Amino acid sequence: MLISKQKPLEEILNYLEGDKNIFVIGCKGCAEGWGSGGEKQVAEMKSTLQEKGKAVTGSVVVDMLCDAALTKLKLRSYKKEIAAADSMLVLTDGAGVQTVAEVVDKVVHPGCNTLSAGGGHAEWKESERCLECGDCMLEFTGGLCPIARCSKHLLNGPCGGSQGGKCEVDPGIPCVWQQIVDHLAKLGRLDKLERFVAPKNWSVSLTSGPPVKRFS
Ligand code: SF4
Ligand code: SF4
Repeated sequence: MLISKQKPLEEILNYLEGDKNIFVIGCKGCAEGWGSGGEKQVAEMKSTLQEKGKAVTGSVVVDMLCDAALTKLKLRSYKKEIAAADSMLVLTDGAGVQTVAEVVDKVVHPGCNTLSAGGGHAEWKESERCLECGDCMLEFTGGLCPIARCSKHLLNGPCGGSQGGKCEVDPGIPCVWQQIVDHLAKLGRLDKLERFVAPKNWSVSLTSGPPVKRFS
């Protein structure tokens, strides 16, 4: 179960600056278990956003937000509410935020920080999507995690070796930084890449950071 904690409200409101209409999503799985994005927290967030002058076009709490097929199916019933929103605020761990970015063509805002895997988690068994860094940066990368999905864990990419959309370290996998650029271009939000992301402070995570690869 991924352990997550809501980001400070001020940080969330900074993310939402310039967006008037928001759709809020939570998860009945890990986020409900940890009190970061279940039914209660989604209802509270809706009231808070309304108090702050935002319009909440709709909200939903999905059973397992990191299950892309399930999430896609569930969100079909909210087409109008999602279309009316400027962006999506996702109250769950990094895996769930990335699902929403994958299935909805909207800007996604991470409302939580993921601190630890806390054991196994459900989806994307074939590939790691979140390395539980404790200070989620998906806001600046279109909802794709370069810490987990870039071979060099680059925070400001791509590296000079990205070729034809493939990773130079393993040409069998896509270069996530190319995917980030393509996704933000599609959303008309390449401006998000103008911000320099400082080196990570791993002390806020319950893990010790990405595994170190040693070459002999
Ligand atoms: S930036 Fe990546 S590793 Fe950090 S919490 Fe978000 S998804 Fe997880
Ligand atoms: S090619 Fe892309 S995914 Fe591979 S290390 Fe460079 S930036 Fe990261």
